[in-house]
Amino acid sequence: MATGTLNAVAALRARAAAVMPGGVSSPVRAFRAVGGEAPFIVAGEGPRVIDADGRRYVDLVCSWGPLIAGHAHPAVVAAIARQLQRGTSYGMPSPLETELAEEIVDAFPSVEMVRFVSSGTEATMSALRVARAVTGRDAILKFAGCYHGHADPLLAKAGSGVATLSLPDSAGVPAAVARDTVTVAYNDLEAAARVARERPLAAIIVEPVAGNMGCVPPDRGFLEGLRALADETGAILVLDEVITGFRLARGGAQERFAVRADLTCLGKVIGGGLPVGAYGGARRLMKLVAPLGPVYQAGTLSGNPLAMAAGLATLALLDRAAYERLDFLGARLEDGLARAAADAGVPARVQRAGSLLTLFFTDRPVRNEDHARSSDLARFATFHRGMLVRGVLLPPSQFECLFLSLAHDEAVIDEVVSAARGALAEIAA
Ligand SMILES: *Cc1c(COP(=O)(O)O)cnc(C)c1O
Repeated sequence: MATGTLNAVAALRARAAAVMPGGVSSPVRAFRAVGGEAPFIVAGEGPRVIDADGRRYVDLVCSWGPLIAGHAHPAVVAAIARQLQRGTSYGMPSPLETELAEEIVDAFPSVEMVRFVSSGTEATMSALRVARAVTGRDAILKFAGCYHGHADPLLAKAGSGVATLSLPDSAGVPAAVARDTVTVAYNDLEAAARVARERPLAAIIVEPVAGNMGCVPPDRGFLEGLRALADETGAILVLDEVITGFRLARGGAQERFAVRADLTCLGKVIGGGLPVGAYGGARRLMKLVAPLGPVYQAGTLSGNPLAMAAGLATLALLDRAAYERLDFLGARLEDGLARAAADAGVPARVQRAGSLLTLFFTDRPVRNEDHARSSDLARFATFHRGMLVRGVLLPPSQFECLFLSLAHDEAVIDEVVSAARGALAEIAA
Protein backbone atom coordinates (compact mmCIF):
# COMPACT_ATOMS: atom_id res chain seq x y z
CA MET A 1 0.00 0.00 0.00
CA ALA A 2 1.25 3.47 -0.93
CA THR A 3 1.33 4.73 2.63
CA GLY A 4 4.13 7.09 1.69
CA THR A 5 1.63 9.35 -0.09
CA LEU A 6 -1.25 8.95 2.34
CA ASN A 7 -1.48 9.92 5.97
CA ALA A 8 -2.03 7.12 8.46
CA VAL A 9 -5.79 7.59 8.77
CA ALA A 10 -6.39 7.65 5.01
CA ALA A 11 -4.42 4.42 4.59
CA LEU A 12 -6.38 2.72 7.37
CA ARG A 13 -9.62 3.90 5.78
CA ALA A 14 -8.79 2.36 2.41
CA ARG A 15 -7.86 -0.97 3.98
CA ALA A 16 -11.02 -1.00 6.12
CA ALA A 17 -13.32 -0.17 3.21
CA ALA A 18 -11.86 -3.04 1.18
CA VAL A 19 -12.84 -5.68 3.74
CA MET A 20 -15.81 -4.26 5.69
CA PRO A 21 -19.04 -2.66 4.36
CA GLY A 22 -18.43 1.08 4.51
CA GLY A 23 -15.25 0.36 6.45
CA VAL A 24 -17.26 0.26 9.69
CA SER A 25 -18.65 -2.27 12.16
CA SER A 26 -21.79 -0.19 12.79
CA PRO A 27 -23.32 2.14 10.18
CA VAL A 28 -23.78 5.09 12.56
CA ARG A 29 -19.99 5.47 12.64
CA ALA A 30 -19.84 6.46 8.97
CA PHE A 31 -19.76 10.17 8.17
CA ARG A 32 -22.05 10.07 5.12
CA ALA A 33 -24.63 12.46 6.56
CA VAL A 34 -22.10 15.13 7.49
CA GLY A 35 -19.49 14.74 4.75
CA GLY A 36 -15.86 14.01 5.36
CA GLU A 37 -14.52 10.80 6.80
CA ALA A 38 -14.58 9.28 10.27
CA PRO A 39 -11.31 9.46 12.19
CA PHE A 40 -9.70 6.16 13.17
CA ILE A 41 -9.32 6.16 16.93
CA VAL A 42 -6.33 4.51 18.55
CA ALA A 43 -6.71 5.69 22.15
CA GLY A 44 -9.08 7.29 24.62
CA GLU A 45 -8.07 9.33 27.69
CA GLY A 46 -10.74 10.70 30.01
CA PRO A 47 -12.86 13.10 27.92
CA ARG A 48 -10.72 12.79 24.77
CA VAL A 49 -9.91 10.42 21.93
CA ILE A 50 -6.77 10.36 19.80
CA ASP A 51 -6.76 9.35 16.13
CA ALA A 52 -4.19 7.46 14.10
CA ASP A 53 -2.65 10.74 12.91
CA GLY A 54 -2.15 11.83 16.51
CA ARG A 55 -5.00 14.42 16.52
CA ARG A 56 -6.83 14.84 19.81
CA TYR A 57 -10.56 15.49 20.07
CA VAL A 58 -12.93 16.22 22.92
CA ASP A 59 -15.19 13.18 22.67
CA LEU A 60 -18.94 13.81 22.87
CA VAL A 61 -19.79 10.39 21.48
CA CYS A 62 -18.49 8.43 24.50
CA SER A 63 -19.00 5.15 22.62
CA TRP A 64 -22.68 6.20 22.13
CA GLY A 65 -23.43 6.11 25.84
CA PRO A 66 -21.53 3.43 27.76
CA LEU A 67 -18.58 5.58 28.85
CA ILE A 68 -20.23 7.52 31.67
CA ALA A 69 -16.87 7.45 33.50
CA GLY A 70 -14.94 8.63 30.44
CA HIS A 71 -12.20 6.72 28.61
CA ALA A 72 -9.88 4.38 30.51
CA HIS A 73 -11.04 5.41 33.98
CA PRO A 74 -8.38 4.01 36.35
CA ALA A 75 -10.91 2.15 38.52
CA VAL A 76 -12.53 0.51 35.50
CA VAL A 77 -9.18 -0.39 33.93
CA ALA A 78 -8.00 -1.90 37.23
CA ALA A 79 -11.17 -3.98 37.61
CA ILE A 80 -10.81 -5.35 34.08
CA ALA A 81 -7.11 -6.06 34.59
CA ARG A 82 -7.83 -7.91 37.84
CA GLN A 83 -10.43 -10.07 36.18
CA LEU A 84 -8.25 -10.60 33.10
CA GLN A 85 -5.66 -12.40 35.23
CA ARG A 86 -8.36 -14.89 36.22
CA GLY A 87 -9.54 -15.66 32.71
CA THR A 88 -11.90 -14.11 30.20
CA SER A 89 -14.90 -16.44 30.08
CA TYR A 90 -16.02 -19.57 31.90
CA GLY A 91 -19.29 -20.71 30.39
CA MET A 92 -20.43 -21.35 33.95
CA PRO A 93 -21.99 -19.07 36.58
CA SER A 94 -19.60 -16.59 38.21
CA PRO A 95 -20.21 -14.48 41.33
CA LEU A 96 -19.78 -11.24 39.35
CA GLU A 97 -23.07 -11.81 37.54
CA THR A 98 -24.96 -12.07 40.82
CA GLU A 99 -23.27 -8.92 42.09
CA LEU A 100 -24.25 -6.88 39.03
CA ALA A 101 -27.77 -8.37 39.03
CA GLU A 102 -28.12 -7.33 42.70
CA GLU A 103 -27.03 -3.78 41.82
CA ILE A 104 -29.69 -3.62 39.12
CA VAL A 105 -32.43 -5.09 41.31
CA ASP A 106 -31.48 -2.60 44.01
CA ALA A 107 -31.59 0.37 41.62
CA PHE A 108 -34.83 -0.54 39.81
CA PRO A 109 -37.82 -1.29 42.07
CA SER A 110 -39.68 -2.81 39.08
CA VAL A 111 -36.93 -5.39 38.54
CA GLU A 112 -36.79 -8.51 40.72
CA MET A 113 -34.83 -10.75 38.36
CA VAL A 114 -32.40 -10.07 35.53
CA ARG A 115 -31.03 -12.00 32.55
CA PHE A 116 -27.73 -10.81 31.08
CA VAL A 117 -27.13 -10.82 27.33
CA SER A 118 -24.37 -9.29 25.20
CA SER A 119 -26.10 -6.28 23.60
CA GLY A 120 -29.09 -3.97 23.86
CA THR A 121 -30.47 -5.59 20.70
CA GLU A 122 -30.66 -8.94 22.44
CA ALA A 123 -32.20 -7.36 25.53
CA THR A 124 -35.14 -5.82 23.66
CA MET A 125 -35.78 -8.77 21.37
CA SER A 126 -35.76 -11.14 24.35
CA ALA A 127 -38.03 -8.87 26.40
CA LEU A 128 -40.53 -8.90 23.53
CA ARG A 129 -40.38 -12.68 23.46
CA VAL A 130 -41.30 -12.76 27.15
CA ALA A 131 -44.11 -10.22 26.57
CA ARG A 132 -45.51 -12.35 23.75
CA ALA A 133 -45.25 -15.51 25.83
CA VAL A 134 -47.02 -14.05 28.84
CA THR A 135 -49.83 -12.38 26.86
CA GLY A 136 -50.27 -14.95 24.11
CA ARG A 137 -50.46 -11.98 21.70
CA ASP A 138 -48.20 -11.08 18.76
CA ALA A 139 -48.62 -7.35 18.01
CA ILE A 140 -46.39 -4.69 19.50
CA LEU A 141 -46.61 -0.92 19.57
CA LYS A 142 -43.51 1.21 19.16
CA PHE A 143 -42.91 4.91 18.58
CA ALA A 144 -41.44 6.44 15.43
CA GLY A 145 -37.85 7.53 15.96
CA CYS A 146 -37.24 5.19 18.89
CA TYR A 147 -34.47 2.68 18.29
CA HIS A 148 -34.55 -0.62 20.13
CA GLY A 149 -31.72 -2.47 18.40
CA HIS A 150 -31.85 -4.19 15.04
CA ALA A 151 -34.06 -7.22 15.62
CA ASP A 152 -36.54 -7.68 12.73
CA PRO A 153 -39.74 -6.62 14.53
CA LEU A 154 -38.11 -3.45 15.89
CA LEU A 155 -36.68 -1.96 12.72
CA ALA A 156 -39.84 -0.09 11.68
CA LYS A 157 -39.25 3.68 11.93
CA ALA A 158 -36.23 3.00 14.05
CA GLY A 159 -34.53 6.36 14.49
CA SER A 160 -31.04 7.68 13.99
CA GLY A 161 -29.08 5.12 12.01
CA VAL A 162 -32.01 4.40 9.75
CA ALA A 163 -33.06 8.08 9.53
CA THR A 164 -29.55 9.31 8.82
CA LEU A 165 -29.23 6.97 5.88
CA SER A 166 -32.80 7.82 4.76
CA LEU A 167 -33.88 4.20 4.76
CA PRO A 168 -37.64 3.91 5.34
CA ASP A 169 -37.07 0.53 6.97
CA SER A 170 -34.54 -2.20 6.51
CA ALA A 171 -34.48 -4.51 3.52
CA GLY A 172 -34.61 -8.16 4.47
CA VAL A 173 -37.30 -7.87 7.15
CA PRO A 174 -40.12 -10.32 6.33
CA ALA A 175 -43.45 -8.57 5.67
CA ALA A 176 -45.11 -11.04 8.05
CA VAL A 177 -42.86 -9.84 10.88
CA ALA A 178 -43.31 -6.14 10.07
CA ARG A 179 -47.12 -6.57 10.11
CA ASP A 180 -47.06 -7.22 13.84
CA THR A 181 -45.33 -3.90 14.59
CA VAL A 182 -47.56 -0.84 14.83
CA THR A 183 -45.87 2.56 14.98
CA VAL A 184 -47.23 5.90 16.14
CA ALA A 185 -45.59 9.27 16.82
CA TYR A 186 -43.60 9.75 20.03
CA ASN A 187 -45.50 11.73 22.68
CA ASP A 188 -48.83 10.97 20.94
CA LEU A 189 -50.71 9.27 23.75
CA GLU A 190 -54.06 9.48 21.93
CA ALA A 191 -52.74 7.60 18.92
CA ALA A 192 -51.20 4.99 21.21
CA ALA A 193 -54.52 4.58 23.03
CA ARG A 194 -56.41 4.16 19.78
CA VAL A 195 -54.06 1.37 18.67
CA ALA A 196 -53.98 -0.37 22.05
CA ARG A 197 -57.78 -0.43 22.35
CA GLU A 198 -58.26 -1.61 18.78
CA ARG A 199 -55.70 -4.39 18.67
CA PRO A 200 -54.59 -6.80 21.40
CA LEU A 201 -50.98 -5.83 22.06
CA ALA A 202 -48.32 -8.03 23.58
CA ALA A 203 -46.15 -5.02 24.37
CA ILE A 204 -45.81 -1.28 24.27
CA ILE A 205 -42.10 -0.56 23.93
CA VAL A 206 -40.67 2.93 24.34
CA GLU A 207 -37.49 4.86 25.09
CA PRO A 208 -38.57 6.79 28.21
CA VAL A 209 -36.39 9.67 27.00
CA ALA A 210 -35.91 9.25 23.26
CA GLY A 211 -32.22 9.35 22.41
CA ASN A 212 -32.20 8.01 18.89
CA MET A 213 -33.91 10.91 17.09
CA GLY A 214 -31.79 13.35 19.03
CA CYS A 215 -32.75 14.05 22.62
CA VAL A 216 -36.56 14.15 22.92
CA PRO A 217 -37.86 14.06 26.50
CA PRO A 218 -41.34 12.69 27.17
CA ASP A 219 -44.17 15.21 27.47
CA ARG A 220 -45.61 15.50 30.95
CA GLY A 221 -48.02 12.59 31.37
CA PHE A 222 -46.82 10.56 28.36
CA LEU A 223 -45.08 7.78 30.30
CA GLU A 224 -47.77 7.72 33.00
CA GLY A 225 -50.36 7.51 30.22
CA LEU A 226 -48.60 4.53 28.65
CA ARG A 227 -48.45 2.84 32.06
CA ALA A 228 -52.21 3.28 32.49
CA LEU A 229 -52.86 2.13 28.91
CA ALA A 230 -50.83 -1.04 29.43
CA ASP A 231 -52.75 -1.76 32.64
CA GLU A 232 -56.08 -1.14 30.92
CA THR A 233 -55.39 -3.32 27.88
CA GLY A 234 -53.23 -6.07 29.36
CA ALA A 235 -50.15 -5.13 27.30
CA ILE A 236 -46.67 -5.42 28.82
CA LEU A 237 -44.95 -2.04 29.17
CA VAL A 238 -41.32 -2.43 28.08
CA LEU A 239 -39.15 0.54 28.97
CA ASP A 240 -36.01 0.49 26.85
CA GLU A 241 -33.53 2.04 29.27
CA VAL A 242 -30.47 0.93 27.29
CA ILE A 243 -29.37 4.60 27.19
CA THR A 244 -31.17 6.02 30.23
CA GLY A 245 -30.54 3.22 32.74
CA PHE A 246 -27.91 4.36 35.27
CA ARG A 247 -27.41 7.52 33.15
CA LEU A 248 -30.34 9.78 34.06
CA ALA A 249 -30.26 8.45 37.61
CA ARG A 250 -29.29 5.18 39.25
CA GLY A 251 -32.81 3.94 38.68
CA GLY A 252 -32.85 5.43 35.17
CA ALA A 253 -35.91 7.16 33.75
CA GLN A 254 -38.10 5.10 36.05
CA GLU A 255 -36.59 6.91 39.02
CA ARG A 256 -36.45 10.28 37.27
CA PHE A 257 -40.10 10.21 36.12
CA ALA A 258 -41.57 7.95 38.84
CA VAL A 259 -42.92 5.43 36.35
CA ARG A 260 -42.80 1.64 36.57
CA ALA A 261 -41.98 -0.75 33.73
CA ASP A 262 -43.17 -4.34 33.47
CA LEU A 263 -39.94 -5.22 31.67
CA THR A 264 -36.80 -3.08 31.65
CA CYS A 265 -34.05 -3.29 29.03
CA LEU A 266 -30.54 -2.20 29.93
CA GLY A 267 -27.16 -2.03 28.17
CA LYS A 268 -24.50 0.62 27.53
CA VAL A 269 -23.60 2.03 31.01
CA ILE A 270 -24.02 -1.31 32.84
CA GLY A 271 -21.14 -2.76 30.82
CA GLY A 272 -18.73 0.11 31.45
CA GLY A 273 -17.56 0.00 27.81
CA LEU A 274 -17.62 -3.76 27.32
CA PRO A 275 -20.39 -5.59 25.45
CA VAL A 276 -23.43 -6.10 27.71
CA GLY A 277 -27.19 -6.01 27.73
CA ALA A 278 -29.79 -7.12 30.27
CA TYR A 279 -33.52 -7.43 30.65
CA GLY A 280 -35.49 -7.84 33.81
CA GLY A 281 -38.76 -7.42 35.59
CA ALA A 282 -41.03 -8.98 38.17
CA ARG A 283 -40.35 -12.60 39.15
CA ARG A 284 -43.81 -13.46 37.77
CA LEU A 285 -42.56 -12.53 34.27
CA MET A 286 -38.91 -13.55 34.48
CA LYS A 287 -39.76 -17.05 35.70
CA LEU A 288 -40.97 -17.71 32.16
CA VAL A 289 -37.36 -17.53 30.95
CA ALA A 290 -35.45 -20.80 30.44
CA PRO A 291 -34.40 -22.81 32.41
CA LEU A 292 -37.29 -21.85 34.76
CA GLY A 293 -39.83 -21.52 31.97
CA PRO A 294 -40.63 -22.06 28.29
CA VAL A 295 -39.12 -18.85 26.78
CA TYR A 296 -35.79 -19.88 25.28
CA GLN A 297 -32.93 -17.40 25.24
CA ALA A 298 -29.21 -18.10 25.64
CA GLY A 299 -25.73 -16.72 24.98
CA THR A 300 -22.16 -18.12 24.95
CA LEU A 301 -20.64 -14.90 26.32
CA SER A 302 -23.68 -13.67 28.29
CA GLY A 303 -22.69 -12.37 31.71
CA ASN A 304 -19.08 -12.26 30.57
CA PRO A 305 -16.83 -11.77 33.61
CA LEU A 306 -14.77 -8.96 32.05
CA ALA A 307 -17.95 -7.07 31.18
CA MET A 308 -19.44 -7.70 34.63
CA ALA A 309 -16.23 -6.40 36.26
CA ALA A 310 -16.22 -3.26 34.10
CA GLY A 311 -19.90 -2.69 34.79
CA LEU A 312 -19.54 -3.11 38.55
CA ALA A 313 -16.55 -0.75 38.66
CA THR A 314 -18.50 1.84 36.66
CA LEU A 315 -21.65 1.60 38.80
CA ALA A 316 -19.48 1.99 41.92
CA LEU A 317 -18.60 5.51 40.70
CA LEU A 318 -22.23 6.53 40.27
CA ASP A 319 -23.29 7.98 43.60
CA ARG A 320 -25.68 10.89 44.07
CA ALA A 321 -22.85 13.39 43.67
CA ALA A 322 -21.92 11.87 40.31
CA TYR A 323 -25.44 12.41 38.94
CA GLU A 324 -25.49 15.96 40.29
CA ARG A 325 -22.20 16.58 38.54
CA LEU A 326 -23.40 15.09 35.23
CA ASP A 327 -26.52 17.24 35.43
CA PHE A 328 -24.45 20.34 36.22
CA LEU A 329 -22.15 19.68 33.27
CA GLY A 330 -25.13 19.02 31.01
CA ALA A 331 -26.74 22.31 32.04
CA ARG A 332 -23.49 24.19 31.42
CA LEU A 333 -23.20 22.76 27.91
CA GLU A 334 -26.89 23.32 27.18
CA ASP A 335 -26.63 26.92 28.27
CA GLY A 336 -23.36 27.52 26.42
CA LEU A 337 -24.62 26.06 23.13
CA ALA A 338 -27.95 27.88 23.32
CA ARG A 339 -26.22 31.22 23.94
CA ALA A 340 -23.68 30.57 21.19
CA ALA A 341 -26.48 29.90 18.68
CA ALA A 342 -28.44 32.94 19.82
CA ASP A 343 -25.37 35.20 19.63
CA ALA A 344 -24.63 33.90 16.11
CA GLY A 345 -28.26 34.48 15.10
CA VAL A 346 -28.65 30.82 14.07
CA PRO A 347 -32.09 29.35 14.82
CA ALA A 348 -31.46 26.38 17.10
CA ARG A 349 -32.90 24.55 20.01
CA VAL A 350 -31.00 22.60 22.65
CA GLN A 351 -32.92 19.73 24.27
CA ARG A 352 -31.50 17.94 27.28
CA ALA A 353 -32.13 15.27 29.87
CA GLY A 354 -29.28 15.14 32.39
CA SER A 355 -26.05 14.37 30.55
CA LEU A 356 -27.78 13.67 27.20
CA LEU A 357 -28.39 16.55 24.84
CA THR A 358 -28.93 17.60 21.23
CA LEU A 359 -28.55 20.91 19.43
CA PHE A 360 -31.30 20.84 16.80
CA PHE A 361 -31.08 23.29 13.93
CA THR A 362 -34.73 24.25 14.13
CA ASP A 363 -36.60 26.94 16.01
CA ARG A 364 -39.51 24.89 17.28
CA PRO A 365 -39.66 22.33 20.08
CA VAL A 366 -38.82 18.81 18.94
CA ARG A 367 -41.42 16.43 20.40
CA ASN A 368 -41.30 13.64 17.82
CA GLU A 369 -39.48 12.29 14.80
CA ASP A 370 -41.23 14.52 12.25
CA HIS A 371 -40.17 17.59 14.21
CA ALA A 372 -36.60 16.27 14.40
CA ARG A 373 -36.56 15.68 10.66
CA SER A 374 -37.60 19.26 9.99
CA SER A 375 -34.18 20.39 11.30
CA ASP A 376 -31.77 21.97 8.84
CA LEU A 377 -29.52 18.98 8.11
CA ALA A 378 -27.16 20.94 5.86
CA ARG A 379 -26.49 23.30 8.77
CA PHE A 380 -25.91 20.36 11.08
CA ALA A 381 -23.38 18.92 8.61
CA THR A 382 -21.54 22.25 8.45
CA PHE A 383 -21.61 22.48 12.23
CA HIS A 384 -20.26 18.95 12.58
CA ARG A 385 -17.34 19.65 10.26
CA GLY A 386 -16.68 22.98 11.97
CA MET A 387 -16.51 21.27 15.35
CA LEU A 388 -14.26 18.48 14.08
CA VAL A 389 -11.64 20.91 12.73
CA ARG A 390 -11.78 22.68 16.11
CA GLY A 391 -11.03 19.40 17.90
CA VAL A 392 -14.51 18.32 19.01
CA LEU A 393 -15.92 14.97 17.94
CA LEU A 394 -19.73 14.95 17.72
CA PRO A 395 -21.93 12.04 16.67
CA PRO A 396 -22.16 12.36 12.87
CA SER A 397 -25.94 12.83 12.77
CA GLN A 398 -28.52 15.44 13.78
CA PHE A 399 -30.58 12.54 15.15
CA GLU A 400 -28.21 11.59 17.98
CA CYS A 401 -27.45 12.78 21.48
CA LEU A 402 -24.21 14.23 22.74
CA PHE A 403 -23.05 12.20 25.72
CA LEU A 404 -21.13 13.64 28.66
CA SER A 405 -19.04 11.71 31.16
CA LEU A 406 -17.64 12.33 34.61
CA ALA A 407 -14.32 13.07 32.88
CA HIS A 408 -15.75 16.13 31.10
CA ASP A 409 -14.95 18.98 33.50
CA GLU A 410 -15.92 22.65 33.23
CA ALA A 411 -12.80 23.52 31.23
CA VAL A 412 -13.62 20.85 28.64
CA ILE A 413 -17.24 22.04 28.39
CA ASP A 414 -16.01 25.59 27.87
CA GLU A 415 -13.64 24.36 25.16
CA VAL A 416 -16.64 22.78 23.39
CA VAL A 417 -18.70 25.97 23.70
CA SER A 418 -15.86 28.05 22.34
CA ALA A 419 -15.51 25.68 19.36
CA ALA A 420 -19.27 25.94 18.84
CA ARG A 421 -19.04 29.76 18.75
CA GLY A 422 -16.54 29.46 15.92
CA ALA A 423 -18.52 26.82 14.01
CA LEU A 424 -21.81 28.72 14.40
CA ALA A 425 -20.23 31.98 13.25
CA GLU A 426 -19.24 30.18 10.03
CA ILE A 427 -22.81 29.00 9.56
CA ALA A 428 -24.17 32.52 10.09
CA ALA A 429 -21.68 34.02 7.61
C1 LIG B 1 -28.06 1.40 21.66
C2 LIG B 1 -29.50 1.08 21.89
C3 LIG B 1 -30.00 -0.22 21.74
C4 LIG B 1 -29.20 -1.33 21.14
O1 LIG B 1 -28.10 -1.68 21.90
P1 LIG B 1 -26.87 -2.43 21.18
O2 LIG B 1 -25.98 -2.80 22.31
O3 LIG B 1 -26.29 -1.45 20.21
O4 LIG B 1 -27.44 -3.62 20.48
C5 LIG B 1 -31.31 -0.46 22.12
N1 LIG B 1 -32.08 0.51 22.60
C6 LIG B 1 -31.65 1.77 22.74
C7 LIG B 1 -32.54 2.81 23.33
C8 LIG B 1 -30.34 2.10 22.37
O5 LIG B 1 -29.93 3.38 22.45
